[in-house]
Amino acid sequence: MTIFDLGWTPFFEAAFSTHDTDVFTPARIFRQDRQRYLAVSEIGTFNATLLGRLLHDESAVLPAVGDWVVLQAFDADQAVIHETLPRFSEFARKEVGQKTRRQVVAANINTVFLVSGLDNDFNIRRIERYLVQAAGSGAKPVILLNKMDMCADLAGCISEVQRVAGDYPIIPLSAIEGDGIDQLKAHIKPGETVAFLGSSGVGKSSLVNRLVGDAYLKTGAVREDDSRGRHTTSHRELVLLDAGGLVMDTPGMRELQLWGEEEDLQAVFSDIEELAQNCKFRDCLHDTEPGCSVQEALETGTLDADRFASYAKLKKELAYLDRRKDEASIMKARKKDKELGKLYKSVQKNNPKRF
Ligand code: GDP
Ligand code: ZN
Repeated sequence: MTIFDLGWTPFFEAAFSTHDTDVFTPARIFRQDRQRYLAVSEIGTFNATLLGRLLHDESAVLPAVGDWVVLQAFDADQAVIHETLPRFSEFARKEVGQKTRRQVVAANINTVFLVSGLDNDFNIRRIERYLVQAAGSGAKPVILLNKMDMCADLAGCISEVQRVAGDYPIIPLSAIEGDGIDQLKAHIKPGETVAFLGSSGVGKSSLVNRLVGDAYLKTGAVREDDSRGRHTTSHRELVLLDAGGLVMDTPGMRELQLWGEEEDLQAVFSDIEELAQNCKFRDCLHDTEPGCSVQEALETGTLDADRFASYAKLKKELAYLDRRKDEASIMKARKKDKELGKLYKSVQKNNPKRF
């Protein structure tokens, strides 16, 4: 195995080049368990923890699964992470709980497979949603239509998806019967990382099993003692395939809540954005304004009402997130001001002449 099999590229090489190679090794994060990481490098596999400074530095980027890190080994299998190298793509979700913070769950994915099932659960609006999610990530989306064995009108479904998919590839397949698996494999190149995104039950695990097969059983399971001394079997979230390429299979990727920017919407709904260019008012809400090209297209049927509703809903959600993000940064700024205020006061008290 070489570092290139793990996904190393000139992009990371350039970022790593300032580090002393006598001390540091680049390694890729294969699994994360809070602040414990499994890091794989050319010189071995390490259980790694974070350098204390990283934990206290609010501006530090903490590693996620898929990240390349700057590692200092101090034992055959123990190491410390000094830094996270820049990413070319990342998937984030809203942090669990009240705070509206961004939590990166996967990094450096080349291709993201957006999986839908062609059974009763088939839902074109959900595909739009995942496309928006993918648009902001930096990864290339490929649409997988699984369970083709359960679809009575395959051609009809595919053409419906084509209408929302832009230029992104669409692959109908069956994890159970094996049709289309070769087309899927053709999108996984050596040294590249892929991930699966889709609702529960669409067949993601079945597809991953098709790709990983025995390799998963061989290298996937890691037996470990948990804090209470029990044996737990956890699995690697990044898996190197025998045929080359890596599959990201982290629980965090499975049910991503929407997190994005309004620009991501423009990438997926370019038809609506184009129509909006011709609205009479720059800030047209496409509601009851006169001279609205979007309403006109809805009336003539050039724009599908469901598609517009889906666009409006996603836009509203993203705008809501935006406000929450703003509020979160205002709160943070206030907290900082307060702390500075306190600091100022205490310095003033102890050293009045300087102020
Ligand atoms: P996940 O939740 O997305 O990981 O979905 P799973 O891989 O666990 O699959 C959910 C269910 O769908 C299981 O019962 C699978 O056997 C079934 N399933 C997966 N792929 C296919 C397929 O291509 N055709 C059919 N008929 N069933 C499938
Ligand atoms: Zn309008």
